[in-house]
Amino acid sequence: MYSIAIDGPAGAGKSTIAKAIAERIGFIYVDTGAMYRAIALYFLRKGIDGHDRERIAAECPNIHVSLAYDDEGRQQVILNGENVTGYIRKEEVGKMASVTSAVPEVREALLDLQRDMAKTSDVLMDGRDIGTNVLPDASLKIYLTASSEVRARRRYDELKEKGMDCDLAVIKEDIIARDKQDMEREIAPLCKAEDAVLIDSSDLSVPEVIDTVIAEFNKVK
Ligand code: C5P
Repeated sequence: MYSIAIDGPAGAGKSTIAKAIAERIGFIYVDTGAMYRAIALYFLRKGIDGHDRERIAAECPNIHVSLAYDDEGRQQVILNGENVTGYIRKEEVGKMASVTSAVPEVREALLDLQRDMAKTSDVLMDGRDIGTNVLPDASLKIYLTASSEVRARRRYDELKEKGMDCDLAVIKEDIIARDKQDMEREIAPLCKAEDAVLIDSSDLSVPEVIDTVIAEFNKVK
C-alpha cells in the first residue's frame, strides 16, 4: 500500500491539488478536514459552545462519522447516518472545526478511521497532522503552503466567482486566526513533518504543484 500525506494551512490549495492527483494516480482521496467539519456541524446544530471542552468531550461517544464515495468517486461525509456533505463548507463550520478539533476526544474519535483507510487502500490524505501523526510512515509527505496574502486572495476570488459578497481584509484576518489556532494547539498541531517536502505554491500554478508532487511520488514508489 502507498500513502501520500498532504498537510498545510487553510487555503493553501490542498484539496484542489489532492483531488486531481488522486484521480490521476488512482488513489482514494481522503479529506480529513471534512471529518472535523462534520463533527463541528453536530456541535453547531446542538447549539453547543465550541469552547466548552467538557461538553464537547462528553458528546463525542454520540458522534459517528464515516466516509462513503459516490459513483464518480467523490467523498461523502456521513454524520450519524446522514449525508452532510452539502452542509459543511460554510465559513462558520470551518471556524467551529478549528476550535473543536483542538479537543483530544474529537481527534481520538477520527484517528482510527483515518488510519484504517490507509491500511486497506492506496490513499492520498490531506489535513493538518497527517504526516506528523496520522500516517507517520507515509510513502510521501508534502507540506503545502503559500503566503497569507496569496491564500486570502485565492479564497476571495473563489467566493466572488460564486457571487458571494466578501471583504479581502476580513478573509485574510480569518486565515491568520485559523493558522494560529491550528499551529498553537496542544494536540497534533499543524507543522511540517521533518521528512516532508515543502512546497510553497505562492508563485506556482495548480498544474505546476500537481507535477511537483507527482515527480516526488515517482521518486519513492
Ligand atoms: O481543511 P479544512 O479547512 O476543511 O479543515 C477544517 C479544520 O479542521 C481545520 O482548521 C483544522 O482545525 C481541522 N483539521 C485538523 N486536522 C486535520 C484536518 C483538519 O485539525 N487533519
